[in-house]
Amino acid sequence: MSEIRHNWTKQEILSIYNKPLMELLYDAATIHRMHHDPNTVQVSTLLSIKTGGCPEDCGYCPQAARYHTNIEGNDLMSVPQVKAQALRAKESGSSRVCMGAAWRNVKDGPEFDQVLEMVRTINKLDMEVCCTLGMITENQAKRLAEAGLYAYNHNLDTSEDYYKDVISTRAFEDRLDTIENVRKTNVTVCSGGIIGMGEKLEDRAGMLVALASLSPQPESVPINALVPVEGTPMEAIEPISIWEMVRMVATTRIVMPQTQVRLSAGRTQMSREGQAMCFFAGANSIFAGDKLLTTPNPDVNEDMEMFKLLGLNPQKPFTKVSQPKTVEAEASQYQPLGEKPKWSRPGHKIERNEQAKAKAKATVNKA
Ligand code: SF4
Repeated sequence: MSEIRHNWTKQEILSIYNKPLMELLYDAATIHRMHHDPNTVQVSTLLSIKTGGCPEDCGYCPQAARYHTNIEGNDLMSVPQVKAQALRAKESGSSRVCMGAAWRNVKDGPEFDQVLEMVRTINKLDMEVCCTLGMITENQAKRLAEAGLYAYNHNLDTSEDYYKDVISTRAFEDRLDTIENVRKTNVTVCSGGIIGMGEKLEDRAGMLVALASLSPQPESVPINALVPVEGTPMEAIEPISIWEMVRMVATTRIVMPQTQVRLSAGRTQMSREGQAMCFFAGANSIFAGDKLLTTPNPDVNEDMEMFKLLGLNPQKPFTKVSQPKTVEAEASQYQPLGEKPKWSRPGHKIERNEQAKAKAKATVNKA
């Protein structure tokens, strides 16, 4: 087993990232085999339980209300709707359901209670349950854990330096605080980022430094490639090449040997050969389902064909961490505290975000 290091430097990571490709692939694949079965890939289904209308200004996201993109928003789904989707996901080979809500942060009240009920329902289907709901307090993390949550997703997105050029409505530090709150429970942490947002290689390395220095390191790290969506501030950015994705996956595998590295947004632009190279380089998780929140994703049957072709098997649920117990709402030992934490609001101007907002406003006024 290779040692788990939390003190990687940006320079060390950059020199791994920039190695001759064959050497990088060999090193990453070797480490991958020490810690994981190379023929097993975890399959997660991402479900958007509340879409659009988000008050945040993330420059890559079509769900930010201020950019008026063409997505179809929806209010919080009902528990039976979510259960039906989870059962469908299970039938098609998913071991995990990740529920995403376009919220800045969780607010105690009926909607959060409904999400807790969704967590209980899916855990009882013997599937891993993950949520991505924005910033949460320690009490909210504990209530999610008690309901049977397996993982909480909260991406760092990019390096601390570049974060200020992507989002102005919250700070990098808030992300770390939420991850710390999740770590006060037994819920595992899923945190990664997006490449291809106009960042420098140093920022990719900086993000990996931040993730790898968390102790413990996140149990899963999604690596997304930006999918530029019309109307967002990043609509005109050229998609990255597969080589960048392969290098990022391989480097992530080397600096975080035990984590599940997940191929996330951007898979529709990758060939099967490209994806196979990512699996070889240490990716061992994918998001399945025809949509990733709002962006397109390969059809699940195509994914299963690809698995067959490559001799890959979907990972069984609770392989890495055992199944949490669900405590029913009536037996909960935690009360909603109705806290109003002061998450940051840096509010600095990001030129491209401002332009996208102004463009959206002008379009609405014209209509
Ligand atoms: S990424 Fe999340 S927080 Fe940011 S705008 Fe989109 S839904 Fe809101």
